[in-house]
Parts: sequence; structure tokens; C-alpha cells
Amino acid sequence: MNNRIDKLASLFESFPGIGKRQARRFVYFLLHKDNSYIHELTSGIVHVKSEIDQCQECYRFFTKNGSSICPVCTDNQSSTQLMIVEKDADFENLHKTKIYEGKYFILGGHINANEKKRSFARVDQLINRIKRDTESGTLTEIIFGLSISPEAEHTRIRLYTMLKDQFPNLTFSTLGRGLSTGTELEYSDTETLKHAFNSRITQ
Ligand SMILES: [Zn+2]
Repeated sequence: MNNRIDKLASLFESFPGIGKRQARRFVYFLLHKDNSYIHELTSGIVHVKSEIDQCQECYRFFTKNGSSICPVCTDNQSSTQLMIVEKDADFENLHKTKIYEGKYFILGGHINANEKKRSFARVDQLINRIKRDTESGTLTEIIFGLSISPEAEHTRIRLYTMLKDQFPNLTFSTLGRGLSTGTELEYSDTETLKHAFNSRITQ
């Protein structure tokens, strides 16, 4: 009986983008590795879960420090700009360039064009965040820092339509078209990002 193999393979199958065959390859790969590798891998998984927290403001993952808010949100509390990005990797790439030093919000996914499909985008949390920041008078501009793809464009338009009615006093802008179609923010270099940020288009 290969129950153990099947069980572990089914766990790998729940990873994003991993199918049945790949999941089984992972299991056989691990069976070939020595104990020290297995130990490093399993303790890495346990530690990442126990030492990393999700920021209650921007929803990115950060090393636990006793606060529910990450250091970037703490540092940028008085900024009047909020940039919406899709994922942690996009945030990291933008943040390290130091082109933009305002507030961030990690959306966590796209709004699906097919209404029946589940969307992972944190739309309610985003609206609550903007509501709170506008009420405290610290927000003037929302910047859409999304990648350039049909899904991201659909997400941007849906969010813009939703937000502009609720928050008529805010300015909405989008990273400029220095980014070409298919551009993933995660992989864009500093110059491209700088150009895209400085030439952002106001709606
Ligand atoms: Zn944060």
C-alpha cells in the first residue's frame, strides 16, 4: 500500500499550480533526499508559520515583532498616498527601489471576471482601510500598482468604479504605461518602475 505516498502527494497537490504528477514527483524527490535535508525542510515550514505574521493594515507577511502592524506601515503612517499591489512579491520589488514611500495594501488576488468563480482579492478589507484612513483625514490619493494583464486591468476597473463613488474626494492614479503588456511588477527593474511611478496617470 502506498497510502503514505498518496497522502503526502495530495498535500502537495493543494499548492498553487501543482498537478497530480508533479505532486508525486515531489514525494519521490523527498524519498531520495537524506535526513538532514528533510529535517531542514520540515523545521523551515514549522518556523515560517510560527515566526511570520500577517500585517493587519497592509496584509503582507512580516517577521513577528510583537506588533500586529508591520514596520513599513508603522513608518509610513502619516503618508497621504496608498498604493494597491497584488501580492507580497510586488510589494517587495517596489519597496526596495525606494521610489515610493507611502502606504501599501496587498490585494491578494484579482477580482475574477467570472462572477461565479471565487475571488481572493481583499475588497472588503481594502474598503474598510480606505474608509478609516479618509475619516482620519490622512489619505488623498489611491495608486493602482497592478501588473499589466487582462485580469489585473479588470480588477483595476472594478475597484476604481467601486471606490470613486464611495470616496469622491480621493484622487485615483495608475502606474504609467512605461510598463508594457504582460509586465509583472515582481520582475520589473528600478528604472522601469521609476518611470511608471513618475508618469502615473490620474483618472
Ligand atoms: Zn503593513
